Amino acid sequence: MTRQSRTSPAASEQSLHQAYDTALLDLDGVVYAGGEAIAYAVESLAAARADGMHLAYVTNNALRTPDAVAEHLGELGIPTEAAEVITSAQAVARLIAEQVEPGSKVLVIGGDGLRVALRERGLVPVDSAEEEGLAAVVQGYGGPDLPWGRFAEASYAINRGVPWFASNTDLTIPGARGIAPGNGAAVEVVRIATGAEPQVAGKPLPPMHRETVLRTGAERPLVVGDRLDTDIEGAFNGEVDSLLVLTGVTDAEQLLRAEPRHRPTYVDRDLRGLLTGQPEVEPCAEGFRCGGWTAVATNGGVLELRENAESGADEEVTEAGGTGDPLDGLRALCAAAWTAAGDGVCTLDAAKALARLGL
Ligand SMILES: [Mg+2]
Repeated sequence: MTRQSRTSPAASEQSLHQAYDTALLDLDGVVYAGGEAIAYAVESLAAARADGMHLAYVTNNALRTPDAVAEHLGELGIPTEAAEVITSAQAVARLIAEQVEPGSKVLVIGGDGLRVALRERGLVPVDSAEEEGLAAVVQGYGGPDLPWGRFAEASYAINRGVPWFASNTDLTIPGARGIAPGNGAAVEVVRIATGAEPQVAGKPLPPMHRETVLRTGAERPLVVGDRLDTDIEGAFNGEVDSLLVLTGVTDAEQLLRAEPRHRPTYVDRDLRGLLTGQPEVEPCAEGFRCGGWTAVATNGGVLELRENAESGADEEVTEAGGTGDPLDGLRALCAAAWTAAGDGVCTLDAAKALARLGL
């Protein structure tokens, strides 16, 4: 790794939807959660799009086809074309097509999303390891009713030396009733029976990002996500900028402890962040200041947050007890934490500072 580690959120004078031509949006935890639209998502996306920003939805879930995802988004009030949805099924289908003869048979352990994506690349999805001329095995999330025997089918073929591919390796899938095993868990099942290693396409790996850029033609993309180890790391690997929103699985504490490849370019509360610029985080004598806050790494191993005196008595005092936006406080804390951590992980105690911000 020769790139210098990011030590602070970046500033943008321009609104992000004007500074970038295409938003590459994660779905779960960003646009919707448990099937329902996340607050401000519908109107923010509509406004960004009306102003000329291209939107694309990028999901590691290989079960649903782009048509089905687009239909779901339409029902939520976000009009979407199937071509604006990019799935890990499409990314893995391209990866397979590059390595096997055109028209090859591929054993599918998964759902319709995979079958449609394989056909789109001229490959033939099949269900049995006994098919003559089987060229690959592909495994993607098959939903809760995927029979156990499908893992045996994959294992028979892989143990004979047929190359193994996986759409993604997310270990879990969050749902309305809690956390369920994801495709990564299913891949582990097959790994136990084969000792083999699949080629993986999904976020944060390069095949997914490449698929997204190929399909959108984005020249200056902004990755928008809620997960550090898929969305933000995928942007890091693709060397493009990213916006972390706090509407999904990542909380402020995890953001402060992010290792370099998990540090986003920008952080905001939700998708309203697309429609605004981003404030500067400036180094100062005590630490780092942003808006009404200064973050200080003390000798005692604590990250402290101080109100900037000159931020003005006429400004509204927030619930957090300080003046200015709590998000600015978080941005200042990020700079202090990431600078202290360098190429490692911040170990300073930020509990009090975050409690003060209500984050
Ligand atoms: Mg997500």
